[in-house]
Amino acid sequence: MDPVIAVAGAGFSGSMAALHLLAALPRPWSVLLCERGDAFGRGLAYGTQAADHLLNLRAATMSAFPDRPHHFSDWLARLAGDPAEAAAAAGIRHEPAGTFAPRGLYGRYLAALLTEALTAAGAPRLRLVHDAIVDLEPRPGGVTLRTEGGQAFAAAGAVLAMGHVAGPGGPPSAHRLDPWAPEAFGRLHPNLPVLIVGSGLTMIDAVASLRGQGFSGRILALSRRGLLPSVHAPTRPWPVPDLTPDDLASLARLTRRIRREIAAARAAGQDWRDVIDALRPIVDYLWRALPVAERARFLRHLRPFWDVHRHRAAPPSAAAIADAIAAGQLEVRAGRILAIADEPGQAVVTIRPRGAGADVTLTVQAILDATGIGPIRESVDPLLCRLAARGLVRPGPFGLGLDAGPDYRLRGAKAGGRLWTLGPLLRGTLWECIAVPDIRNQAVEVAALVAAEVEADRGACRAAVA
Ligand SMILES: Cc1cc2nc3c(=O)[nH]c(=O)nc-3n(C[C@H](O)[C@H](O)[C@H](O)COP(=O)(O)OP(=O)(O)OC[C@H]3O[C@@H](n4cnc5c(N)ncnc54)[C@H](O)[C@@H]3O)c2cc1C
Repeated sequence: MDPVIAVAGAGFSGSMAALHLLAALPRPWSVLLCERGDAFGRGLAYGTQAADHLLNLRAATMSAFPDRPHHFSDWLARLAGDPAEAAAAAGIRHEPAGTFAPRGLYGRYLAALLTEALTAAGAPRLRLVHDAIVDLEPRPGGVTLRTEGGQAFAAAGAVLAMGHVAGPGGPPSAHRLDPWAPEAFGRLHPNLPVLIVGSGLTMIDAVASLRGQGFSGRILALSRRGLLPSVHAPTRPWPVPDLTPDDLASLARLTRRIRREIAAARAAGQDWRDVIDALRPIVDYLWRALPVAERARFLRHLRPFWDVHRHRAAPPSAAAIADAIAAGQLEVRAGRILAIADEPGQAVVTIRPRGAGADVTLTVQAILDATGIGPIRESVDPLLCRLAARGLVRPGPFGLGLDAGPDYRLRGAKAGGRLWTLGPLLRGTLWECIAVPDIRNQAVEVAALVAAEVEADRGACRAAVA
């Protein structure tokens, strides 16, 4: 058995899985960390260099390590204390609600952690492969990974950390722009309208990028309910609500129970945010405890309301949106797209407003899809498609992410693959699996489980040979 574990994807999930695998596995085990993008440790979230793309969590909650809660705050403080870093430190925003750092700085922090592992004393145990994994085949004693660049690697097992695996993208228009590729915004006419589909945190980033590049035209943000993310405010601890089996029998009962808890918090002079934050450690338990039909009901009806309360914007980001609305540049509407007619240089979009009101048509030069990451079953990712065809993976609950066990092991039509996962690919199996505080715990757990299994097998191999 080759004493190597491969990790596919080097965003936050893959990078942290790799670091914890290095800690959990003894020599001569090594870790192969494969990334198809330009940089390691950045992923979709932390590759941005825009100073106004801020973390949407306080720095105090963004440590990469669950057992060292001040690790990121201390790193930021050291950076802020270094005169040579004055320009970078200027982007850190200190608010009454907490400190919010630019996401690009967080990417630097993660890259620095990988550099530390690469330069650690002794024989190198972390190998970075700058290539896309396009196929993965089980073989006796492990797996073989193949890359787009034609390389093949043997490993005892693999952790899939491809994160936000995108679908084909929508809506269907030749004028669609990727909100994650804001360099294209510079080619827009500065005064012609732009439509953003979605009104969440991605929309907030997209508006910041548009305005940051001097765009002064009208922006319409359209979503089913037209809800904007709420904003962070100072919070105080509130006890985890003591929920009974009766509270968990239906979504309606659970919602009523949480509303009562919020009313109690208000009566005690506290904020609704305190209750939402108190629920956070038990959200996955609540998700699994709810009957399947109630979880489906949550996805159909309640999810947008939960999301805007749970995923809050940094105060400067929310203030920039309020400013764009007050200036008449940004309008946020509830409705849905009925039709898009592409024309040269523009698209005519027919919108049906939510509730009453006649359909409206809007001529825009570009449409940005800011609806977030779609269901896994719509993914056209070559690696996932091949893994599914080999029976090694399958969609998990509600088709949101991949099916996996409580031990993070991927489940497919065929049993026995040495494949694990973590992070956003677990959506549906878990509910809270996207933010740093959740993924950092998963990285510790998955590394320990992988290490225990492959070391036990290696011991058995050695005993058989002897
Ligand atoms: C815009 C944005 C802002 C966010 N802000 C915050 C925040 O402030 N706080 C917070 O806690 N969470 C935030 N999040 C949540 C965020 O998803 C997680 O923190 C985390 O970044 C997820 O990391 P990941 O590695 O699983 O996925 P990703 O970031 O998607 O990284 C996956 C990586 O895998 C690579 N990859 C994919 N397929 C292959 C392949 N076949 N071969 C090789 N490489 C491959 C990709 O290139 C990518 O680098 C944010 C998310 C987004 C999208």
